This record gives sequence, C-alpha cells and structure tokens, in this order.
Amino acid sequence: MEKLSPEFRQALDAACKNAIAHLESLDQTSVSATAELETLRGRLLKPLAREGAPPQQIIEQLVDDVSGGLLGTAGGRFFGWVIGGVLPAAMAADWLTSAWQQNAAMYACSPAASVVEETVGSWLKDLLQLPPTASFALVSGCQMAHVTCLAAARHALLAKRGWDVEALGLFGAPPIRILSSSELHGSFERAVRLLGFGRECVRTLPVDDDGRLLATALTSVLEKDTSAPTIVLLQAGDINIGAYDSFPTLIPIAKRFNAWVHVDGAFGLWAAVSPRLQHLVTGIELADSWATDGHKWLNVPFDSGFAFVADPEAHRSSLSIRASYLTHATEARDQVDWNPEWSRRGRCFAAYAALRQLGRDGLADLIERCCRHAHELVMRIGALPGAEVAWEPVINQGLVRFLDQRAGATAADHDRRTDEVIARILETGEAFFGGTTWRGRRAMRVSVCNWRTDDAQVARVVRAVKEVISN
Ligand SMILES: *Cc1c(COP(=O)(O)O)cnc(C)c1O
Repeated sequence: MEKLSPEFRQALDAACKNAIAHLESLDQTSVSATAELETLRGRLLKPLAREGAPPQQIIEQLVDDVSGGLLGTAGGRFFGWVIGGVLPAAMAADWLTSAWQQNAAMYACSPAASVVEETVGSWLKDLLQLPPTASFALVSGCQMAHVTCLAAARHALLAKRGWDVEALGLFGAPPIRILSSSELHGSFERAVRLLGFGRECVRTLPVDDDGRLLATALTSVLEKDTSAPTIVLLQAGDINIGAYDSFPTLIPIAKRFNAWVHVDGAFGLWAAVSPRLQHLVTGIELADSWATDGHKWLNVPFDSGFAFVADPEAHRSSLSIRASYLTHATEARDQVDWNPEWSRRGRCFAAYAALRQLGRDGLADLIERCCRHAHELVMRIGALPGAEVAWEPVINQGLVRFLDQRAGATAADHDRRTDEVIARILETGEAFFGGTTWRGRRAMRVSVCNWRTDDAQVARVVRAVKEVISN
C-alpha cells in the first residue's frame, strides 16, 4: 500500500489535534475576539517568502497566528447573527470531502457526489414538506439559493411573455416587479442586483404587529397592475423576530395574479420538521421556489445552502449549460445543470452526514431545543432589573432591550444603554450577542442555532448578563 509521506501525515495529524483542542477549549475561552486588528495583521500579513515551509509547521503557525481572532461560533454560547454550529458527523465528513477532492460539477467527475447530492435533495424535500417533484440545488448559502431561484423565476415569467432571457438578457425585456414585506433580508437585495433586476424593482409593503406582510397591501398593489410580471417574496422566519408570512392567505392571492412566489426560509423553513412548529409553514408547499441554509440550523459547516424550485424545467432552463468537452449523464444527475457554479466542493457529503447523524427525530429535537433555549434566554435576561423583553421568541429568535435607569431617560438613552450592555457582554467573553434596530429602537438579538447550547450554558450566560448590568 502506498504510504503518505511523513510530512503529509504530520500535517493532517496536526490539524486533527488542533481541531480537537479548539473544540475542547471553547468552554474556557472568550466567545468574542480578543486580538486587535493590528495584532492579527502583524502576525499574518507578512511578505510571502520565496521558500516554502513544511506543512505541519505551517499548520502549527497558523493556529498560533489566528489565536484571539476566532469567534467561539462552534460553541454553545454564541448567539450573534444566525450562525449554526457543526455536528460531529458533518465536520468529519467535511474533512473527508477535502481528502477526497471531488469536483461535484457533474456525475462524470464524481458519481458518488452526484448520488449523495440527489439523496440529500430528496430527503430535504421530504423533511421540509416541499413538493416531491421540485428540483433543487446545493449552493453556498441562502443568498445564492435566492440567485438560483430568481434565475428560474426570471426565466419562467419572461418565457410566458415570449422573451428568451437566457439569449437576450434583460435589456429591453418587460420589467419585472418584486413585492415583499419590509422585513426582507439584505441578501435578497443582492441576489436581485446580481441578476440584473436592480434594487428599485423591489417594492416593500407594510407588515402587521407580528411582522407578517399585510394581505390587503399585497392585493391592492397587485390589483393596480394585473399584467406586470411579478415575483412575490415571502418570509419564513425574518431576521429579527423569526416572523412567518401567512402562506395560506398570501400565496393564493399572488397566484391569482400569476405571480411567482419565492420563500426566504434561511433558517425558518426548518420549523417544518417539528410537530410543534410546523403549523408556521402551513401552505408553504404552494410557493414556486424556496431558499434555505444548511450552515445555520442544520449545523453543517460553511458553506451550505439549498434552493428548491417547483418547476424543474424553469430551473434547468435558467442554469443548464452544454459544452462539447463535457460528458453529460443521461440517467444520472449532473449538478452543473442546477447550480450557478461550475467546479465546486462536494458539500453534499457534510449535509448527508448531518441528516443521518440526527435522523428525523434528532433533527426535530435540535430545532425544538434551540427554540426552548432562545425562549429561556430572552425571558430570563428580559426579567433582570433594567432589562425588558422586546420580542418573546416564537421560534429561535428574540429581542431584549436594556433601559437607562436614570429619571427622565429618553428612548435614545435606552438605545445607547442597549448598545453599551451588548458591548460589555462581549468584553466579558462569556457570551456573544448582536444588536439590531427593530421598529426604530435598538435591541439585542438572541439567536440560538447551535446543537451545543445546553441548559448549563444558558444559566451561565444569564449570570454573566446579570453581572454586567448590575455594575
Ligand atoms: C442568513 C440569512 C440569509 C442569507 O443567507 P446566507 O447563507 O448568509 O447567504 C437570507 N435570509 C435570512 C432570513 C437569513 O437569516
């Protein structure tokens, strides 16, 4: 048997040893970064030497040089943005993916990657309660899932009007309008810009007190112009409060006007796997396309997103490519027909391993556990003196505010106090939360997405916040 060179083996051993050390240190180390920008540049931004160095030495030095510049995102006390952890099977499969070095572009480059991807796609449609006939793509994240789905939408809406967008582009095409609630995520706007729609195609409409797009507002805009090609973006879990638009009400309205309905379910789509939460996504299967992430709630390593399209022909027509030097499969699935990238990582392996490690029950348990911890964190922190609950979590997202206790304190003072408390929590290294402006007020976001968060960590974090605000 061919042996790896000692150098190769030592580099892999060093990576494994240091990875385990990192994961084991997370309970004792700061969740926020402790190294300054200048320190990191001083260590890392050096002239590239003429001579190379032994692989193991490079790995050991890299580990030293990044220290203090990594966030504790892999651990259970990180609640910033919406960032998932990594399940053991998914991380291990991801390491193997690098060792295997498959180009998951098409079946001919890696038959196994093609079949694993096909499997992941069909499991996900089943778990997320999407139509079994929908097509799918494994992409780098929810933003690229938006791009994938909107490319299909653009194709379908314009083909109906006799316009071949793949051949002619958008110059001179009938203008497409996009309608959404005010709560849309910034990544959607970027997808829109990348596809040549332009930001001004998007018209945002008001929401109710629960953050849901108002049906009356949608109807009235659609009625004003019944012929414009239209995409309606609906939210399955918005970034601040995890709000779900009412799919059973809104999708039939959009369909009545022949609009394409796209759903941003970056994390919220996963409510479908929980018997307790799946009522939130009732009716979602009637949409035309759906975007979600693997690297958030499924706890798959970056980068991992999933796009689904109800009309496989529209999806394939918008992305498929045929070149004379390629060997196209006739029976098998060539991924290049469905995703925006050409050569790409076999990111299917990690998603496959995550789903198998959890099983259906484990996945439902992960989702429900995160929601329970988010609820606990928001309610317990919100009950501390000088704090208040701004949004009680329905799923895994909630908001807390910190109040300036001085007599006559204004809303601006409370905003300042909220940002100050967030900064001071980060300084303790005990927990990581982000801030947001929600309905005109600053708030601390609490987002729980990591399988490693447990009751003990929740208690520890509440203690740390209590300590910060009592000083
Ligand atoms: C994170 C997020 C996105 C963007 O997803 P990426 O994986 O970062 O591309 C889109 N929508 C919502 C609601 C999100 O939370």
